[in-house]
Amino acid sequence: MGENKIMPVIFSGHGSPMNAIGKNRARGSWKKMGEKLGKPKVIIAISAHWATQGLYVRTAADNPQVYDMYGFPNELYEVQYTPVGFPEYAGRVIELLDGMAEEKNDWGIDHGVWSILSNMYPDADVPVVCVSTDTAADPAAQFETGKRLRTLREEGAMILASGNIVHNLSMVNWDMDTGYSWADVFDETIKDAIRSKNFTVPLEYEKIEGWRKAIPTNEHYYPLLVALGAADRDDTVTVWNDYRELGSMSMTSYLFEEGRRI
Ligand code: ZN
Repeated sequence: MGENKIMPVIFSGHGSPMNAIGKNRARGSWKKMGEKLGKPKVIIAISAHWATQGLYVRTAADNPQVYDMYGFPNELYEVQYTPVGFPEYAGRVIELLDGMAEEKNDWGIDHGVWSILSNMYPDADVPVVCVSTDTAADPAAQFETGKRLRTLREEGAMILASGNIVHNLSMVNWDMDTGYSWADVFDETIKDAIRSKNFTVPLEYEKIEGWRKAIPTNEHYYPLLVALGAADRDDTVTVWNDYRELGSMSMTSYLFEEGRRI
C-alpha cells in the first residue's frame, strides 16, 4: 500500500461477539472490506468497549487480546488476534489530540475491534493503535477528536471506529433478524443525514424520535461521531452492513474514502 494515498475512515457496527465467527452477514462483509481496501501502515482503532472517563491512547508495543464478553461458546474464546502496537504512531495520535488525550496501557484489543479485524486482516499483520471512547465528553468533543485525527489519513493510517448506532441490550430479541420499527426509523434518519453529509443530525441525535431507546448509553454511538469528524467533506460515502438485527441492534456501517491521490 502506497503512502501517497489518503487512507479511509470506517465506522463499523460490531453487534454480537458471535459475529466474529461462523457464518453471518457482518463477517462476510468484513472479509470483503479487508480485501477491497488492502493493508494500511497502521490502524487507529476507536472502540466502544474501551469506555473511559477521559480519552486514552494505548502506546505500548503490544496489544494483548481482551475477551470482554461472557457466557458465549468456547469457540469464541479460541479466536486469537494480537497485532503489534505502534508506539511512534500512538505518540503522534496524542500529539494531534493536543491535550485531549493521555496514554494508558491497562487494556488491550477488545472484541469491539478484534471481532472486525480478525476478519478484515486475519493475519494480524497490520499494527493497531487503540483509542478509548470518552463517555464523559459531549458529542462535539467526539467530532473534534476525529477532526484532529483526520491528518493521519495522509500518513498511512486507516481510522476504524467500532460501535453500533442502535444498541439497546435490554431490548435484544435473539429470535429477530430484523429491527424494531423505532430502530429502523432512528437508523434510517442517521443514514439519510450522513449520505447527504449533514453531520448536524447525528451530532444532535437527541432531537431524533426514539433516541432514548436507540442510545440508552452513549459508548456504542460515540465512535460514529469520531468517524464523522475524521471524514472529509469531499469523501465518498459507502453504506455497508446496512441492516438491523436482534430487534434493537443496528449493524449499519460507513466507509469514507478519498479517491484523490496526493
Ligand atoms: Zn459492543
